[in-house]
Amino acid sequence: MADMTERRIHLRTCPLCEAMCGLEIAVEDGQVALIRPDRDDVWSKGFICPKGTTLGHLHHDPDRLRAPMVRDGETWREVTWAEAFDRCADLLHPVIEQHGIGAVTAYVGNPTAHNFSLGRYVGVLIGMSGIPMIYSAGTVDQWPKNVSSQLLYGSMWVIPVPDVPRTDFVVVMGANPHASQGSLLACPDVLGELDAIRERGGTVIVVDPRRTGTVDHADEWIPITPGTDAALLMAVVHVLFADGLVDLGTLSNLVTGVDALSELAKEWTPEAVETTTGVPAERIRRLAHELAAVERGVVYGRIGLCNQEFGTLASWLVDVVNMLTRHFDVPGGLMFPKPVAWSTASLPRPDHDVAPPFARWRSRVRGAPEVLGQVPISCLAEEIATPGEGRIRALITVAGNPVISAPDAGRLDEALPQLDCMISIDNWLNETTRHAHVILPGLSALEQPHYDELIWSFAVRSAARWSPPVFPPGDDRPAEWEILIRLALICAGQRPGPGDVAAVDDGFFDALVLSQGLDPATVRANYRDGGPERILDLSIRTGPWGDRYGEVPDGLTLTKVQEAEHGIDFGPMPAGRLPEVLRTADAKVNVAPAYITDDLPRLRARLDRANGHLVLVSRRDVRSNNSWMHNVRVLVKGKDRCTLQINPKDAAECGVVDGSVVRVASEAGSVDVAAEVTDAIKLGVVCLPHGWGHDKVGTRMSVARERPGVNNNLLAPGHFVDAISGNAAVNGIPVTVAPVSSR
Ligand code: SF4
Repeated sequence: MADMTERRIHLRTCPLCEAMCGLEIAVEDGQVALIRPDRDDVWSKGFICPKGTTLGHLHHDPDRLRAPMVRDGETWREVTWAEAFDRCADLLHPVIEQHGIGAVTAYVGNPTAHNFSLGRYVGVLIGMSGIPMIYSAGTVDQWPKNVSSQLLYGSMWVIPVPDVPRTDFVVVMGANPHASQGSLLACPDVLGELDAIRERGGTVIVVDPRRTGTVDHADEWIPITPGTDAALLMAVVHVLFADGLVDLGTLSNLVTGVDALSELAKEWTPEAVETTTGVPAERIRRLAHELAAVERGVVYGRIGLCNQEFGTLASWLVDVVNMLTRHFDVPGGLMFPKPVAWSTASLPRPDHDVAPPFARWRSRVRGAPEVLGQVPISCLAEEIATPGEGRIRALITVAGNPVISAPDAGRLDEALPQLDCMISIDNWLNETTRHAHVILPGLSALEQPHYDELIWSFAVRSAARWSPPVFPPGDDRPAEWEILIRLALICAGQRPGPGDVAAVDDGFFDALVLSQGLDPATVRANYRDGGPERILDLSIRTGPWGDRYGEVPDGLTLTKVQEAEHGIDFGPMPAGRLPEVLRTADAKVNVAPAYITDDLPRLRARLDRANGHLVLVSRRDVRSNNSWMHNVRVLVKGKDRCTLQINPKDAAECGVVDGSVVRVASEAGSVDVAAEVTDAIKLGVVCLPHGWGHDKVGTRMSVARERPGVNNNLLAPGHFVDAISGNAAVNGIPVTVAPVSSR
């Protein structure tokens, strides 16, 4: 073990978001002394944000759980790992024996996608346990994009990303890189790239109900009515066809459905949508012409387009507009990344090929149709609380805090105590895990290696960088992948030992080897240990630059990646990848899939509906990451950021003054919060930040409790979803605002 008293520098990738910044971490006396950017990192080249400097705070946080916890009534106690897993079996086995595995479900949170072992092994829990249905954060923030990709390209994870570094014209819709960097887009320093576009004479346009920080890096802000982006984009499509601007470029032999789309777009004139969208018809028309004229241009749509009433239509139309203007699969447009190591999520899904993954079954209580194997997260509360055959009685949460981050959060908070068994894999006793019977803490980010699993599938360049652990975990601490396997085996009726975990890991690895057309026994002979490092080596060696276990001389291996401490760069996204990534039956892209276009009448009906007086949208902040960074004092100090932003005219009409406490109410609930009167928000729209509301009794988040903020998801009605994806519509919620008192 290293001498803990000397100052050592560790290089690693920040695991918090899709920017994947390279960090230089100075450790002294066993403590993180300083974190600064690694200027030699081949990928991020010295970029970092405030969150990246706080990994030491997260690691040293006294509230972070280091040992398993068991709850007896209201009392928590630390237990050994053996006792914790025994308690899990004691709780789960009777539920399964009496009610079947259908009474068990899991919720998978967003950090899973950024974790070295959770990301690679969560599928083992889901697949091996026999749990028939899970819930995830995906139905809050990205399901429409997955649906769109499933129908356009034949795979929910084949998602094209904007080639921001090489474009000259970008339209940013429903995304705010100022707060979140890229999303379904891995690109270090997105704002720097936007500045570079303008420096080389290009144009940046932001379409958003808020004048976000990203607008400071743009040429133009187009304020839009929340939830109407699809109408705007349909009008752009209309103009492209009506004015003879459609040019498929290199896609002409790969695309079908263009005539059908042209027919559908006929009624969507800019004039028909301008009142609803709030965007003048002339500006829509000009936008279509600008996109058609520019050599290298792209439309980028993200979370604000997904978590709204017409999320799938909007997400689909982003890709369609790029295709119709030849900004697709070419430099500067929407392109398909080429990761060095493939993701387990990218492997073919036979169940999606056998039957279209839509409405194969319905949820028990509200009858919500399944979409890509899931129903809206807002169904979970009623599936727990509604008596009857098929009721959910046991829940496993994996790195998630849905009591804060899911819509209709109040109902879920009330439902969770009704579970017979709740087990949480989590590092904090938070608003959700306080309901658990057992908490199984994973390693801190600095106690485990890192190499992103899924995120490189959204990267604007192909690169590879290995991060060894900074601190050794305690001897008896299992990694998350071992916890997941143990829980899967417990669900299967066992009380597993270490040998059982290794056997499952070997079986999983063999299946992955087979997926690459190799012999499992031969490949397994290369390794002494299992776990995610072995999978990573496999996915590098069978990836596009890999050595295929000796077949390709000088090919890449994990060892070679580990030897390059600042990483290895393999260049920008290559053009012309569409035929290679397409998984549709006819090897073509149908730009007008009926499942999506059948939803156009619903959007058309929206045009006949008056815009509400006030609608609520959510916002993110550069110092926040959903709900789980609010226990880091340096990130939450200073001015209160949990405020209701309201336009001055709306404020005057509601009798609200800046700084006063107001009550925001929707059909789902109400919260009292300080008003922030600002012209940075469109008339008729109010905005709360996402991820707050740390005022619950029974948590162990001492810093977060000092500045709890309010939970915007208490205002999100569970039934308000994008009808064809089931994604929560947390933007565009009708609300009222009224003064409560003066400060
Ligand atoms: S942008 Fe910030 S949070 Fe994201 S990877 Fe970089 S340092 Fe980490």
